[in-house]
Amino acid sequence: MSDKVRDKWAEEIGPEEFTGLRTGGESGSAAGLPAVIMSVKHVFGAMGLSRGMKALFNLNQKGGIDCPGCAWPDPDGKRSPIAEYCENGAKAIAEESTTKKAGPDFFAKNSVSELSQLSDYELGKSGRIAQPMFLEEGEEHYKEISWDDAFKEIGEELNGLESPDEAIFYTSGRTSNEAAFLYQLMVREYGTNNMPDCSNMCHESTGVALSETLGIGKGSVKLEDFYETEVILIMGQNPGTNHPRMLTALQKAKRNGAIIISVNPLFETGLKAFKNPQEIKGLLGMSTDLTDHYLQVRINGDMALLQAIAKLLLEEENANPGKVLDHEFMAENTEGAEAYIQHLQNLSLDTLVENCGIPIEQIREVVKAIRFKNKMIICWAMGLTQHKNSVDTIKEIVNLLLLKGSIGKAGAGTCPVRGHSNVQGDRTMGIYEKPPKNLLDNLERVFGISPPREYGYDTVDSIKAMHRGKAKFFMGMGGNFLSATPDTHYTAEALRKCNMTVHVSTKLNRSHLIHGKRALILPTLGRSDEDFKNGQRQFVSVENSTGVVHSSHGKLKPVSEKLLSEPEIICRMARAVLPGSKIHWEKFVLNYDYIRDAIEKCVPGFDDYNRRVRRGRGFYLPNGARQGDFETDNGKAKFTVSDISPIPLDEGEFLMMTIRSHDQYNTTIYGLNDRYRGIRNERRVVLMHREDMEEMGIENKAVVDLYNNHGGRARVAHNFIALAYDIPRRMVATYFPEANVLVPVKSTAEYSNTPTSKSVVISIRKN
Ligand code: SF4
Repeated sequence: MSDKVRDKWAEEIGPEEFTGLRTGGESGSAAGLPAVIMSVKHVFGAMGLSRGMKALFNLNQKGGIDCPGCAWPDPDGKRSPIAEYCENGAKAIAEESTTKKAGPDFFAKNSVSELSQLSDYELGKSGRIAQPMFLEEGEEHYKEISWDDAFKEIGEELNGLESPDEAIFYTSGRTSNEAAFLYQLMVREYGTNNMPDCSNMCHESTGVALSETLGIGKGSVKLEDFYETEVILIMGQNPGTNHPRMLTALQKAKRNGAIIISVNPLFETGLKAFKNPQEIKGLLGMSTDLTDHYLQVRINGDMALLQAIAKLLLEEENANPGKVLDHEFMAENTEGAEAYIQHLQNLSLDTLVENCGIPIEQIREVVKAIRFKNKMIICWAMGLTQHKNSVDTIKEIVNLLLLKGSIGKAGAGTCPVRGHSNVQGDRTMGIYEKPPKNLLDNLERVFGISPPREYGYDTVDSIKAMHRGKAKFFMGMGGNFLSATPDTHYTAEALRKCNMTVHVSTKLNRSHLIHGKRALILPTLGRSDEDFKNGQRQFVSVENSTGVVHSSHGKLKPVSEKLLSEPEIICRMARAVLPGSKIHWEKFVLNYDYIRDAIEKCVPGFDDYNRRVRRGRGFYLPNGARQGDFETDNGKAKFTVSDISPIPLDEGEFLMMTIRSHDQYNTTIYGLNDRYRGIRNERRVVLMHREDMEEMGIENKAVVDLYNNHGGRARVAHNFIALAYDIPRRMVATYFPEANVLVPVKSTAEYSNTPTSKSVVISIRKN
């Protein structure tokens, strides 16, 4: 909805009549029959019965289509032949595989400014982009362009820059291993490491913390570890909406006797109870309670909570020597334990309790439940990674696991749950602004190129560089950069300053409408689309959250003959940008096995790639932490010492976190409902504690404006509807990407430079 329309609504009509906002009826359990109904509705509504059935029966099956949703792992062994996917997976495939097309006539009818008036949800409903589109400088309509001409435009633009470092090449986590490898190869031959990715905005803090302490920036657990663990601690994560099949693993863990502890400012439905739609009982409405202990932590109170738990475990150890902490493990495998324990002893329990906001009795109860357990998995997501002190908080998770000897053995370890389906794989392929030396050495050896050695821009630095005019070309390999990034107005200004913006996309999104002087949309095959080269069906591969590399085979007829696969787009673009390149780009497009052969030569862990990836379940990448081999400087896992850093709030200020609704995945909005939270037909809402609202004289469903002034720049989000919700005092929640406008680009996590989207200081004024 445009701001103009909203202003009118705010002045003249109440939110309920205007938007159809409905609240109430929060779900007490996740999934079940409603999830099945929603899945069927989305899939068959978007692509009809036979295409829909084909998509669903192939989704997440061995030799089938890898879900383009999240990166939750599939079972290594038997998979359900009927439904190895969740409601969100079904929505993701429906979104991608729709038969609706946005052809040249659509763009002729709708100017860029007209399209800009549509909501993200409405834009997504315009269908698959069916042909390359070009927006010439000063024009108002995208017009069809041939592929050759599109590549020529890009080649001329890139070769006209003063330095390769004036170009930025972004990647979203959908990109396959094959495309990601070729993309980074092309960019490095061109001469820059400006390769920001969506990881910069999600699990970068995880990568930094785990690399330093455990020697690998990825999680250590396998799916099977959930079935033999004793304790699962879930922090800052909403699996019911963002990684729904995790609930099946939690249900199995629970049935095997695991204790589940959930830590989050909102008690999300998916953590309460689960109706497994693959079981008759689940379909009949019988649910499994999941969480044994729910700790309603204050936003950013996680480190204080972890330290309080560790301190109380220490007390338990003193009372029960040798039974609570794993001294043998610590002595053999770690360093820094003494300093850490000393630090814990010096901490004030009262201060920790005050800062995490959880009553001491509840924390003691949890400690009592876990004190004699030694197989613990800790899971986390964006609720932990997008704060100023995120890296230190994640290191505190490692401290707790090390105290319990809960790493390097079955049923225990780290589980950062990744968002987009191949975000982890893209990083493995070298999509990184700080590429490892051995990758660059291998590119040099195998391809005879001279890759640049200086680090490039990450996402935040790319935005700043474009804003300062230091970067003039932006390319997005997938994704919706404008909506995914912070400080929307600032980022929009940055993109508009570019000479050219290029997006490789399946569907229209906001980033196509906030463009550089000239803009290109290059339409690509989706994961579900068939891809034939030389008459041979090709497949791609991806890496899930647990480090399994497996194949994904497109099965559906593409909606247009003018779509190219991502590998082909990159190879043809490389030829246009690098006419003198000695790399045989054309060969890669003859058969993707050639790309995998090249990956095998350059990226460790991919030996015999083409054979092993053809096995149904794929293969696990090496992971030292999983076996207790810590690839740090001295082979030891590291305890670290950190202090809490409370975020001061002045009177009238609140700490805001951005969250996702149940009808969205990352920046893709599938619908306007957030069924589990009982919010329907509206996304511009701010969830507040009832007493805070009363104190401020804000009635439930009053229209408010939200402000942030970080760094002296005024940011405002107009016309949000305040809703009373069960959230800690002085904390509020708003949906991403609508509230990104308030997230300051210059407020980022220490060491990882991730925007602090989960701890934004705002003030609220009644409209
Ligand atoms: S859990 Fe994630 S990967 Fe699995 S089906 Fe759902 S969205 Fe797709």
